Amino acid sequence: MSRIRRGYEDRFRALLRRARARRLEQGVQWLVARARHLSASDGMSPADALAQVYEQLATSKPFQQSASQPVPVLFLCDVGLGGLARWLRAAGYDAAWQPDIADDELLRQAKQAQATVLTTDAMLMERRLLRDRIIPVFWLPPTLGIPEQLALVFREFGLTVRGPRCMSCGGELRRGAKEALRDRIPPRTYRWLDEYFVCSRCDKLFWHGTHWRRIVEELAALKPGGGRGTSAL
Ligand SMILES: [Zn+2]
Repeated sequence: MSRIRRGYEDRFRALLRRARARRLEQGVQWLVARARHLSASDGMSPADALAQVYEQLATSKPFQQSASQPVPVLFLCDVGLGGLARWLRAAGYDAAWQPDIADDELLRQAKQAQATVLTTDAMLMERRLLRDRIIPVFWLPPTLGIPEQLALVFREFGLTVRGPRCMSCGGELRRGAKEALRDRIPPRTYRWLDEYFVCSRCDKLFWHGTHWRRIVEELAALKPGGGRGTSAL
């Protein structure tokens, strides 16, 4: 729990700093105390109470993210966020994820690629490169499901759903000529579908099948400006 609390403290601090609040640390402790009070009075878990206090604060006027911040060119997801990486790609954003990458290597790659790190690990946030914002980072509460993670990232960076990228690697999808791809397309699909896409990075073949349509529907259900998304991702 203390890790989750530390993660939230960091986010409270970032929000207060953004709103140019004075007496930063006092404000952070006041918000933590408010969550503790909420947890005791409403019987919700400490993590849920922190999430609720954060949500209320983040969606109130002075704390809303300015739309001017640039969209990250690449999200680097930590080991626990493979599902989020796939959905970011489906929503049109490049996201890298390796299942067993060490923290040092993650930070090295993020620095080199000028990527924005997404993490649920409050301990990772203590690393100097992240703490001093040399590498941009966004911490996600580990208690959230993928739709909620996605909605938070969308709100934080002011994202909108774009044309999909490759779900496997995040590469750009290019339209491929049906005839040239004939031997890679299952015969049944070939008969009824004319549009095909090939990943420019890993060469994987995609088409708009039922799985794709479900993804598009799920993404369309993402509420603009954050909030809870759908639950079926
Ligand atoms: Zn690919």
